[in-house]
Amino acid sequence: MPDNNAPFNKEEFAWESNPFSEVDKVIAVASGKGGVGKSLVTSLLACAAVKDGKEAAIMDADVTGPSIPKAFGLHGMLSAIEGVGIEPAVTETGVKVVSMNLLLEDEESPVVWRGPVVAGVLQQFWKDVDWGKVDYMFVDMPPGTGDVPLSIYQSLPVDGIIVVTTPQDLVQLIVKKAYNMAQMMNVPILGVIENMSYLECPDCGKKINVFGESKAEQIAKELGVPVLAALPINPGNATLVDLGKVESANAPEMTEAFAKVKEALGDKE
Ligand code: ADP
Ligand code: MG
Repeated sequence: MPDNNAPFNKEEFAWESNPFSEVDKVIAVASGKGGVGKSLVTSLLACAAVKDGKEAAIMDADVTGPSIPKAFGLHGMLSAIEGVGIEPAVTETGVKVVSMNLLLEDEESPVVWRGPVVAGVLQQFWKDVDWGKVDYMFVDMPPGTGDVPLSIYQSLPVDGIIVVTTPQDLVQLIVKKAYNMAQMMNVPILGVIENMSYLECPDCGKKINVFGESKAEQIAKELGVPVLAALPINPGNATLVDLGKVESANAPEMTEAFAKVKEALGDKE
């Protein structure tokens, strides 16, 4: 039997970074399963960081289900500079983005690679991309606890993880798996963001718990981590994502969440 409690040696697996990159904080946005709004939360966090005057970047590590370029209205292929590396795409407000979808001739063709190949691509996203100066890099993680997230936690200098969840019971269980994985990898969990927490009636302002009562506080207490935000279902924001205009989304909750992230990482600027 392998010894699950053996201390994990991060240096042994660390991916070399690009000599032109100066990435300060790396934050992984993870979830137990897909469809909980991980990509939306990642996008909104990067937008909040930009509004706070930070240099922000998104590494779209969900290689087989990339959705970051579409949310920001980015298309076309990334270019590379000889001897420097691949240049990230830059969104309207200045978020640097690298995604598999910006490296495919046809962005609709599926990526059907196995874990080790995907991990190789992510290593290139780190090593071969000239990220330049970045204060906060948000990594849109592949969902779940498979070998790709494992490679990322092993090999990237992740400062903290944000776990995205929804109020459904089943999701809570999977969240705990994601949480336990992070614990095993010795990466601090900065907190939980409950997405689709409620819907506010546009007429009367009443909060409707579409997916049941909020469980954010409960799960956060069980895991001993704070709730960074309870994000409502916002049909307007969903439309903006579809239009590639996530930067125009209205999500004051995420401004607050980013402030909490900064605080947790000791960033007082
Ligand atoms: P994931 O990355 O976890 O698979 P996404 O961020 O792509 O999930 O979200 C799935 C879909 O639900 C997207 O179309 C997204 O715009 C929409 N969505 C996610 N969160 C919200 C929300 N709070 N309000 C409205 N739509 C949302
Ligand atoms: Mg996604």
